[in-house]
Amino acid sequence: MIRRILTYPDPELKKKSAPVTIINEKLRELVQDMAETMYDAPGVGLAAPQIGVHQRVIVIDISPKDEKPELIVAINPEIVHSEGECYEEEGCLSVPRYGANVRRHAFVVVKAVNLEGEEVTWKAEGLLAIAFQHEIDHLDGILFVDHLSPLKKEIFRKKYRQTAEQARVPA
Ligand SMILES: [Zn+2]
Repeated sequence: MIRRILTYPDPELKKKSAPVTIINEKLRELVQDMAETMYDAPGVGLAAPQIGVHQRVIVIDISPKDEKPELIVAINPEIVHSEGECYEEEGCLSVPRYGANVRRHAFVVVKAVNLEGEEVTWKAEGLLAIAFQHEIDHLDGILFVDHLSPLKKEIFRKKYRQTAEQARVPA
């Protein structure tokens, strides 16, 4: 089922998510809904709090549109090692029509549990490394715009309020 994606400045996006303690049918359903919602949007990642569920679950798929999907499901994901720096433009399904460059680690090692309850490790770089950092941030109530400098964030707030209002005006 496709769920509604919460958008900035919804306070639900600022809440910290709780670790998953049990992998059951309800969790499998949540992951299924998250994947459907992400592919429908379309986006390269989605975290559970973006659909109002405050559990530490993320889905990511960075495979090119014309290739077969490669869904990553990470439950209780944790960055256990990070290296280097990059500065790429990011966007977010919860902050529509806005992009900005964000400083991130260029390489991360992520540990998580999959839907079978097995421990999984990813060594990620490039877009995948950025996606992991972006989605794990969501679990701690952090949006990519929170990484902007205070001045840039102020400009974002003003500009974003205007575009949000314009988007509401019927054509
Ligand atoms: Zn996001």
